[in-house]
Amino acid sequence: MSSDLALDTALQHTGLAPFDPHTDAAPVAVPIMRTSTVRFRNLDALDRAQADKADPEKRSVTYGRSGMDTHAALEQVFCQLESATQALLAPSGMAAITLGLLALLDSGDHVLIADSAYGPVRYLEKTVLRRMGIQATFCAPTPEEMARHLQDNTRMVYVESPGSLLMQMLDMPALAEFGRQHNLLLVTDNTWGSGYIYRPLELGFDVSIVAGTKYVAGHSDLMLGAVMSTDPAINKRLHDNHYALGFSISADDAWLALRGARTLPIRMRESAANALAVCQFLDSRPEVSRIYHPAWPQDPGHALWQRDCTGSNGMLSVQLRLNNAQARVFVDALTLFGIGFSWGGFESLVQLVDTSFLGGHSYWEQSQDSLVRLHIGLESTKDLCADLAQAFEKAAQA
Ligand SMILES: *Cc1c(COP(=O)(O)O)cnc(C)c1O
Repeated sequence: MSSDLALDTALQHTGLAPFDPHTDAAPVAVPIMRTSTVRFRNLDALDRAQADKADPEKRSVTYGRSGMDTHAALEQVFCQLESATQALLAPSGMAAITLGLLALLDSGDHVLIADSAYGPVRYLEKTVLRRMGIQATFCAPTPEEMARHLQDNTRMVYVESPGSLLMQMLDMPALAEFGRQHNLLLVTDNTWGSGYIYRPLELGFDVSIVAGTKYVAGHSDLMLGAVMSTDPAINKRLHDNHYALGFSISADDAWLALRGARTLPIRMRESAANALAVCQFLDSRPEVSRIYHPAWPQDPGHALWQRDCTGSNGMLSVQLRLNNAQARVFVDALTLFGIGFSWGGFESLVQLVDTSFLGGHSYWEQSQDSLVRLHIGLESTKDLCADLAQAFEKAAQA
């Protein structure tokens, strides 16, 4: 795909089905190619495919685990989104993170992990990495703080920008510079940007990981992860480990994600505009002490967001002058926000964040306030704000 096309255009013209050589026709929607098994016309054809398998760029398939045309089309879309040369699919965002860490770290290595990264990464560290002899330090995601925790065996910086729960924007080019100075692999969780509004590989990172479960799939109906890079040596290592670990996703899920990706631009733009409208409403409320959303001008990360991002999305957190019991009444009173984890779908969601968990986040300033995370979906903001207003009234009466 020509690189001077706008991403919105390229997204509609990537991963298309090829023309049939006999009919010169092709389906506009790539078919769902379900198969566990690949058959070959003769042994020479099989031998050629086997020989090509060592080269990730050839995407040679001899068996269904790595998927055929539907998977390949979705991989091309992820490459397009992230400016990557390789994308590997995983059965969930968490599986993609696991692949990135296990493929690129050896026993005896040390990794610096942003203390604002997705919570379950701490569980992965405790349950798996430690047992594999991989050491980790969770610290504030700035070059200065990370430099203080460098060890002789430090191999990787793992971050997420903006960070989970508090949407802390990181200075990615500065972190990339720090990583290069110390010969560290730079890995980031880019689920927030999903390649569309934030492109860490262009900002100097080596590996970008996306939970396709969220905005790429976009309809809250499947689990998916992807790991992207441009570096040939990293690509080879990710590719070989992906194969060895046996990760596989169904062609149906690949097809649904591909379908979702075609409308990613309009869904993300609409959620982002709706989120800003909700921020404006929240800002007018006496219960609100702080809004966490990088596109909101008062957010401390706003300048970094303006410099490094091309858009925003529907994620925001709001700090409320409510005690825990009042915050529970507030959340329970909402009728248009589903109480649930996840985000990036068509619908609005709410989550009451356990602030004791935020003790490990250097960005959190200790407070008696409550923290509520919202995902703003595609509903009318007039209805969403009315719903929030009536829930505030109920919380005040509690
Ligand atoms: C949801 C999420 C993940 C994990 O994705 P799953 O598909 O749910 O495993 C990883 N990182 C971030 C930032 C997420 O929000």
